[in-house]
Amino acid sequence: MRQRTYLSPTLRDIPADAEIKSHQLMLRAGLIRQTASGIYSYLPLGKRVLKKVEEIIRKEMDATGAQEVLMPAIQPAELWEESGRLGAYGPELMRLQDRHERDFVLGATHEEVITSLVRDDIKSYKKLPVNVYQIQTKYRDERRPRFGVLRSREFIMKDAYSFDTSKEGLDESYKAMYEAYKRIFSKCGLDFRAVEADSGAIGGTDTHEFMVLSEIGEDTIAYSDASDFAANIEIAPVKAVSANHNEQRVLDVEKKETPNVKTIEEVTAFLNVDATQTIKSLLFMIDEEPVLILVRGDHEVNEIKISHLYPGAQSIELATIAQTNEYLGCEPGFIGPLQVKDITIIADHSVQTIVNGICGANDKDYHYINVNVERDVSELKYADIRFIQEGDPSPDGKGTIRFARGIEVGHVFKLGTKYSEALGASFLNEQGKAEPMIMGCYGIGVSRTVAAIVEQNHDENGIVWPKEVSPFDLHLISINMKDDTQSQLGEQLYSQLREMNYDVLYDDRPERAGVKFKDSDLFGLPIRIAIGKRAAEQIVEVKVRATGEMLEVKIDELESTIKQLIEK
Ligand code: ATP
Ligand code: MG
Repeated sequence: MRQRTYLSPTLRDIPADAEIKSHQLMLRAGLIRQTASGIYSYLPLGKRVLKKVEEIIRKEMDATGAQEVLMPAIQPAELWEESGRLGAYGPELMRLQDRHERDFVLGATHEEVITSLVRDDIKSYKKLPVNVYQIQTKYRDERRPRFGVLRSREFIMKDAYSFDTSKEGLDESYKAMYEAYKRIFSKCGLDFRAVEADSGAIGGTDTHEFMVLSEIGEDTIAYSDASDFAANIEIAPVKAVSANHNEQRVLDVEKKETPNVKTIEEVTAFLNVDATQTIKSLLFMIDEEPVLILVRGDHEVNEIKISHLYPGAQSIELATIAQTNEYLGCEPGFIGPLQVKDITIIADHSVQTIVNGICGANDKDYHYINVNVERDVSELKYADIRFIQEGDPSPDGKGTIRFARGIEVGHVFKLGTKYSEALGASFLNEQGKAEPMIMGCYGIGVSRTVAAIVEQNHDENGIVWPKEVSPFDLHLISINMKDDTQSQLGEQLYSQLREMNYDVLYDDRPERAGVKFKDSDLFGLPIRIAIGKRAAEQIVEVKVRATGEMLEVKIDELESTIKQLIEK
């Protein structure tokens, strides 16, 4: 491609509203332009990278036997009514009407469409399993579109859906996708982790998120420093440590006046104790029922874990001050589990191990000291209800937990029969009996992946593309186009290198050397070949973008040099 007429406008300044590096660089290098908030156009360079990523995905998906289809972006609202999601999906779902005032939605995802397709065309176990996928535009009216194409309102997703006749079959389909995803993200040059995530049901093995490690990630990953355990902190289980009360003297409970001392920080300061000695009590309303939740003062309650203890619950919320007064006769800062009647109490495992601890006395301005819940609280359930913390032992028994931030680029999920039952996608089994198909769904944010690649692969001068996704292989530059020797050698190499099957971007612009080199670093193609003063001697300068390595190379050795550098 000739750069003189290539639509690749570069920006010198950092665009004001772009907060993160990938967004800044994608704008500056002319990969994308914003058309409306959270809605982007891809310019030629950006489109080439998208295509490269799509091809990596296609190849790996096809290798698993998955079949590519293309479903419509516009979907009839009735299908979403059938699945029960028309209301549940909320304002993120973009809705529209046609000229006959019939309701449609812009596809945020395609479970409904694919399930209805399969329902109509597959009737027997003999035609299963199938896995179909598409690469297509999705629409989600995100509350806060931001970070460029990382969280946009229109974006490109690869979504796949598997249909099996048994749970074991689903396990296999899931595993095939999981392994394909690992190969895809490795090929994209990404440093990532597959982490266990929240499936909205009990347990963590039914869904994994593929997280690109990055400080700007919105998710926190808990991982072991000594094994491959990794989970979203939303679900990471905490290993219960057993109590060891024997060696310590258990004292009698005492009520202490603690005027205006409400928070854990105030309690620890006032009583001069460590937060690990305190019991944090929080009253929750689960649907209509009050539930008292206890965690150690230095721990945080994990509401997702609580929701797993109440699978059917519609709402789980902290009680209001009025509700707290109603059920415990006291305001929130002074509540605790002692003498509480007719209210379910759930304590985190770690609360069991506190010896002579401190908790609120259900009396304004008072706390109890020397509390030992095993002795002092009669009806109490223990469960894992807190967030894991850095420094905790890894739940798999190997190593210590560390935290990292991650960008979710992919998601594999066991759906089960949720959609096949709602939409009536069943098959006849070997006995001729109808059963609902067992489904899995598997997404990759294609456009988000491109942004994540830039986020992980750049330096102060610009993007540093991993070679598999680079928009071009080579950046050929004639430094001075007015110099005939240079421009002629440029033309010659431009056609020779393309004959060798390289994708070449040829900078034939009548620009100054400084501008050309700056743009070249910004674009970040793996290898730059600059034709300059030594053109007459048939010598060019080759630079490796990633390492900065520079070589003077004779034309007749150029092919072998490039080969070597690219294979490295
Ligand atoms: P998030 O938690 O980031 O909103 P999600 O859980 O809603 O993601 P899924 O419904 O699992 O995402 O969609 C599959 C993939 O699509 C995600 O893993 C992500 O890579 C991508 N994706 C989701 N929302 C967006 C968005 N607004 N912009 C770009 N990519 C997105
Ligand atoms: Mg989302």
